[in-house]
Amino acid sequence: MIPRRTLKKLAEQNGTPLFVVDHNELRRNYATFKKYLPRVQAYYAVKANPDPAIVKTLFDAGASFDVASMPEFRIVYEYIKDMPDKQRQDWIWDKIIYANPIKANETLQELNPYKPLVTYDNYEEIRKIKKHAPQAGLALRLKVTNTGAMVELSSKFGAAPGEAVDLILAADKVGLTVEGISFHVGSQTTNFGNYVAAINLAANIFKEAKDRGYSKMNLLDIGGGFPAPYDDTVKPFRELAGIINRELNRLFPKNIQILAEPGRFLCATAATAVSKIIGKAVREGKLCYYVNDGVYHTFSGVIFDHCHYHMKSFKRGPTQICSVFGPTCDALDVVSMAEELPGDLQLGDLLYSEQIGAYSHASSTWFNGFPPATVVHINQ
Ligand SMILES: *Cc1c(COP(=O)(O)O)cnc(C)c1O
Repeated sequence: MIPRRTLKKLAEQNGTPLFVVDHNELRRNYATFKKYLPRVQAYYAVKANPDPAIVKTLFDAGASFDVASMPEFRIVYEYIKDMPDKQRQDWIWDKIIYANPIKANETLQELNPYKPLVTYDNYEEIRKIKKHAPQAGLALRLKVTNTGAMVELSSKFGAAPGEAVDLILAADKVGLTVEGISFHVGSQTTNFGNYVAAINLAANIFKEAKDRGYSKMNLLDIGGGFPAPYDDTVKPFRELAGIINRELNRLFPKNIQILAEPGRFLCATAATAVSKIIGKAVREGKLCYYVNDGVYHTFSGVIFDHCHYHMKSFKRGPTQICSVFGPTCDALDVVSMAEELPGDLQLGDLLYSEQIGAYSHASSTWFNGFPPATVVHINQ
């Protein structure tokens, strides 16, 4: 956690709303991931927080990257563009996965010269890849159970297990190479059984593909979903890692490369938002604080990520249950209907919210003319 006096000082220097990123925490999270999942290569899911400085720190720490659009690809490419051609080509092949199963033709054309690894989950996509990015390697995205995840991802993407091997053989038939299988168990998955079920399903599909004559698969991508420790109901990462390692070692021989796409796990705990109280009212008997950051901005995760962030005060005093509202004119702009805060906070006082690094600033807008929070990096 970033010390309160540091947050206060930074807010004085830079104004609010402020989004403070601690790069030591990014490096710690990456090291934790590597330590407990030594067999797994971590591809940071850039969409969780695409700040180029975050990408750079993880790049320097040795991370690989999951990108899902050309702008995300270019954020990573910036750090490898000066490598010699061959080295850059190998780096992209080894360290970037374009993990959006649906890609526009124009995107595929742009990607093709880089010979990337891309995911797919349907026949139309095979035709598109064959025509527009024949140099790409493929990973089949499998539909897996997302039970108990905070953010469900299986209704939009993933081949049904019964169709998986047909889709692998169909790609092979047109001369594309399916390198392996990917899945996503849902974001902020606290139900560790999802990983067990998905890894077992993937192992069955490897076997069925082999039985039906396809034995070129050499990678398994276990996706994202690794939970951030938002509260003590989230069991330790070490426990999840133990379960994953056990299943991987039981079902996948050492020559199968294992990838993962952690987003939230790497960046959620690395940022704190600081906002300022700009209004105060009592409505229907409840104290309401209005702050200069809200759900169209850093707190966008309240809407898109189904995430709840706690607001804390720098000042102490008798507390009560308050509402905290964002600055825009939209009644949807509610940070929280129930925060325990001191009742005597004044206009100009600051509030802060920790563990807000993922799916927050990333989806901030300019709605109603209010700009996104200023970003400050510490321990860079
Ligand atoms: C969003 C996403 C991720 C990152 O998920 P987290 O739950 O943040 O780890 C990884 N892979 C894909 C394909 C995604 O869409």
